[in-house]
Amino acid sequence: MDALLTDSHAHLDDDRFDGDREQVIRRARDAGVARIVTIGSLEGAAGAQKSVRIARDHDGIWATVGIHPHDARLADEAAMAAIEALADHPEVVAVGETGLDYHYDFSPREDQRRAFRSFIAMARSHAKPLVIHSRESMEDALRIMDEEKGWEAGGVFHCFSGSAADARTIIDRGFHVSFAGVVTFKKADRARELVASLPRDRMLIETDAPYLTPVPYRGKRNEPARVRLVAEKFAEIWSVSLEEAARITSDNAARLFGLG
Ligand SMILES: [Zn+2]
Ligand SMILES: [Zn+2]
Repeated sequence: MDALLTDSHAHLDDDRFDGDREQVIRRARDAGVARIVTIGSLEGAAGAQKSVRIARDHDGIWATVGIHPHDARLADEAAMAAIEALADHPEVVAVGETGLDYHYDFSPREDQRRAFRSFIAMARSHAKPLVIHSRESMEDALRIMDEEKGWEAGGVFHCFSGSAADARTIIDRGFHVSFAGVVTFKKADRARELVASLPRDRMLIETDAPYLTPVPYRGKRNEPARVRLVAEKFAEIWSVSLEEAARITSDNAARLFGLG
């Protein structure tokens, strides 16, 4: 049987997909990507609203609701209320992405931390897992997760870029880590070592489309069909078939997000 894949993190709401979104989704299906979790990335509550619409209109697509840490300055009371109103929709499987990005600092760190705390509270009160983005911010992210009891919600640190010790901490607290096309990059030995050494039942794969396009398509817009290249790299690292790598990572995503 052919591989059945899950892209656990794509931004199908991105306006770069507005011209050909249906074809992008069709190509994913043709590549064996049976399930996609789409993560809102438009500003304010718009990303969450558009993602829920996309999920509602397509079998095999689910949404998360949140505000990217880049836009945390826009997480005002009205935006948070609009997002919370979507949290219990049947297509919504997680809260996020939320977290801290100290690499770009597109929003003031104080705003990022405040929004992160609010989304942790939202995830806990709606019994949804968290999709967390943490870049060059792991110490603060882990501390806030401790302080806000975020671990109780369950969830995933997506596009994981921390250390092996950080990965251990995250996994010991019941969370998952997810890897994108970065594992195909020449200089990503550290990510590949993590894939080799972490427990296989705690790892997800993703595209983070339209970003992080895997080798050999770097420089082009990424899309969910290319999660297959991430799965192929996992299969190579694990010395298993593509079907097996796809099955393990799909089962993990299905369990975490409750995908049917
Ligand atoms: Zn992210
Ligand atoms: Zn993302």
